[in-house]
Amino acid sequence: MKYIDEFRNGDYATEVARRIHAEADPGRRYRFMEFCGGHTHTLFRYGIPDLLPDNVNMIHGPGCPVCVLPMARIDAAIELAVRHQVILCSYGDMLRVPGAHRTSLLKAKAQGADVRMLYSPADALRIAQENPQRQVVFFAIGFETTTPPTAAVLLKARQLALKNFSVFCNHVLTPPAITGILEPAQQAGERIIEGLVGPGHVSVITGGEAYESLAQRYHTPIVIAGFEPLDLLHAILLLVRQCNQNRHDVENQYSRAVTPCGNAKAQSMVAQTMTLRDRFEWRGLGWMPHSALRIRPEFADFDAEVRFELSPSDARENKACECPAVLRGAKSPTECKLFATRCTPDNPIGACMVSSEGACAAHYSYGHTR
Ligand code: SF4
Repeated sequence: MKYIDEFRNGDYATEVARRIHAEADPGRRYRFMEFCGGHTHTLFRYGIPDLLPDNVNMIHGPGCPVCVLPMARIDAAIELAVRHQVILCSYGDMLRVPGAHRTSLLKAKAQGADVRMLYSPADALRIAQENPQRQVVFFAIGFETTTPPTAAVLLKARQLALKNFSVFCNHVLTPPAITGILEPAQQAGERIIEGLVGPGHVSVITGGEAYESLAQRYHTPIVIAGFEPLDLLHAILLLVRQCNQNRHDVENQYSRAVTPCGNAKAQSMVAQTMTLRDRFEWRGLGWMPHSALRIRPEFADFDAEVRFELSPSDARENKACECPAVLRGAKSPTECKLFATRCTPDNPIGACMVSSEGACAAHYSYGHTR
């Protein structure tokens, strides 16, 4: 298939769904986690769960970059904007995520802080060049997909010898997050999923081989999928087949974009500018070793955590918010008492309702209102 319409063709979709029904063994249960929030939205947008047999269930994963960032990091960004009075630049969704005491970057902006929404890290560099008298900080978030553009601006900032630009680095890694989901279950002798839909965009950068050891270690089949409805239906069919054949391989359904080794140039830029953190806190998954990146010492001049003193956060998650359990795949958003009552996209209590990739936002947009 070459064109978008073909990946949304209803006749093809009906045929693949028919095959899933035909091949799914009624005597067993198939729980598949879609790691990526983009996949969650495709599933709901196209009503894919309704096409599946009752014993084939999809579970949300932690692959929403806004959702997994703990409150303490949001508080640090607010502190940069308010106490250090920098020009704080970040992606739109980040501005609305509640920090401690129900504040947010957007509220800080309303109270006079210079917080700016951007679409590309390159915009932050431009803002730094246009405001040489001000410190400009790029609040960098995201998985492997958004890390190379941050690396590119770090390289460019050094080339330009900018004195007023730095990055507050919060880039996180996919394989440790998968480990964070599967390892506790394995240690407890439990099985929480039978297969995983691997992330499409992330895998363009990492390559499919990045998941080989995970599939083997946790005896869990992984199928990397694209973001069109037929991509997901096809990936689910491939996962059902692997389960039936007791295989746990990495398969690449998204071969039109993902290669075994990924994007070598992007990987090289990241390796030049960033290195592994010893540990990093994730919302829902807690502190995990080697699960995030920090800026290399050679680029310390452009590291906001070196340039600015940041206070420890006293952030406490709202106890009623089930985001941590939703991000672990342990609960569905509709199991949260606040869902669609006190927590809505207009008045989000937790990050999963804020982000366009969040599981709660997907349920609200495509499920609750239906
Ligand atoms: S519905 Fe709101 S409060 Fe509940 S888990 Fe989702 S984001 Fe958190």
